[in-house]
Amino acid sequence: MKIYIDGNYYDKENAKVSVFDHGLLYGDGIFEGLRIYNNKVFKLKEHIKRLYMSAKGINLDIGMSPDEMEDTVNECVKKNNKENGYIRLLVTRGIGDLGIDPAKCKKVSIIIITADISLYPKEYYEKGISIITSSTRRIPADCLDPRIKSLNYLNNIMAKLEAKQAGCLEAVMLNKEGFVAECSADNIFIIKEGKIISPKSYNGSLEGITRETVFEIAEALSIECREDALTKYDLYNADECFITGTGAEIMPVTAVDSRKIGNGIPGKSTKMLIEEFKSVIK
Ligand code: PMP
Repeated sequence: MKIYIDGNYYDKENAKVSVFDHGLLYGDGIFEGLRIYNNKVFKLKEHIKRLYMSAKGINLDIGMSPDEMEDTVNECVKKNNKENGYIRLLVTRGIGDLGIDPAKCKKVSIIIITADISLYPKEYYEKGISIITSSTRRIPADCLDPRIKSLNYLNNIMAKLEAKQAGCLEAVMLNKEGFVAECSADNIFIIKEGKIISPKSYNGSLEGITRETVFEIAEALSIECREDALTKYDLYNADECFITGTGAEIMPVTAVDSRKIGNGIPGKSTKMLIEEFKSVIK
């Protein structure tokens, strides 16, 4: 494994960051999670675009152009000779001192980890998964814009802990008004009377790349798709439900808070989207 840190490549054992890095001290930084399918990074331009928008959001100068970043990510894939895998791209505020003042950090740190991906078992995609609503709410959009993919994931982690305690893989997070935002690391969708609905970003969701891909697939299939506010009631009474993410891809949800969704098996439209997604990533 060759890990990129600020222009150099290191083995896993030697890939280290400073204890004074503000990414570590304060979660002051941003990241992307990307997939490699058949030697090609999926939606690389879209991920890079989101990274630079996150950077703008936290007033971070990456110090490298988006094109250079794209080339660097591709170089990492080549150097690691990865046909299929996962990339974690991080940009931290860099090394500062123990105060929070970002001005102390003179240079950002760019880290690119190219790794294997441990996929969810196939049966989850065939049978669907059960999820719960977590008591941990999403950070309000007026406090920290959910479109910023920042290194601050504490409340998502709290939600994930709740999911695991309930024996689930994922948990739905509500925003402070009680509307559905997203899951701890995935976007959420319902299908109701043939229409696909997912919360808006201002409801507290990241503008997921996989989510966008689902919108594109739906458009190509002439399935009506919209962003709208959803409540727990909408989830419970959905005909179908699924979650999306770079790691999970499209995962059917067959129960929410012990309520069976639809017939309690992955729905027809969800299965169709999963099939279409397979051809998009080819
Ligand atoms: N929401 C959150 C909070 C995430 O961390 C992620 C990424 N794992 C997603 C949604 C899904 O986004 P994407 O499809 O871009 O991976």
